Amino acid sequence: MELTVLGNNGTCPIKDGACASYLLEVGTRKILIDVGNGSVAKLQHICDLSEIDTIIVSHLHFDHIADLFPFKYALETRKYLGENIRKINLYIPVVPDWIEKEISTNDIFSITYINDGFTCSTEQLQLTFKRVVHMGDSFAIRIENEGKTFVYSGDSGQCTQLQEIAKKSDVFLCESTMLDDDANGISHHLSAKQAAQIAQEAGVGKLLLTHFSQPYDAQKYEQKAKLFFNNVESTVILKKYQI
Ligand SMILES: [Zn+2]
Repeated sequence: MELTVLGNNGTCPIKDGACASYLLEVGTRKILIDVGNGSVAKLQHICDLSEIDTIIVSHLHFDHIADLFPFKYALETRKYLGENIRKINLYIPVVPDWIEKEISTNDIFSITYINDGFTCSTEQLQLTFKRVVHMGDSFAIRIENEGKTFVYSGDSGQCTQLQEIAKKSDVFLCESTMLDDDANGISHHLSAKQAAQIAQEAGVGKLLLTHFSQPYDAQKYEQKAKLFFNNVESTVILKKYQI
């Protein structure tokens, strides 16, 4: 499996940045995990939008889903103009009515609503979702393929579910929204140190940090995490990581 980071900014993209989005390539398959604001422009450095066969959404905050809607506009326009656009598998938490209306028209997506513990197999991939602690329904995702395991935290505060789902994974992509630990009582996001401690306890192979609230200081997150877990890297947009 190969992961390309399309966006790693938390909340709002900085200049030329993008919010949470990751392209996972498994053989010829292209799986888009979260579709944060700014990410669809980055995606087109790698492939055409119609090449995506599956989209997974961890939760419904706009910095994780905003570009899902223009992504759909692009494909439904091309379909309307006569192009043969194949349906995309969309795994997403239960949505409010207005989102349901947006995503269900024009037969662009084949929608599966996820819940805690949901698991499925799709063409040699095993997907498992676990609810984590955030504002609203948010899911961490474990993806296994041919003996390799990739885990993505989604957005989460500290909770044992993260250690459980990340256990012994080869690569754990974890949010570390906060550079420092004194997070003014914020319990629905992690610091770099907390992400590193979870990686250590879960016995993961490599930790990738993402969802930075201070993207210009991405290297500082890595330095802080390294004090608690050695094999850690702050992600870089459009950089590829092998799993
Ligand atoms: Zn969130």
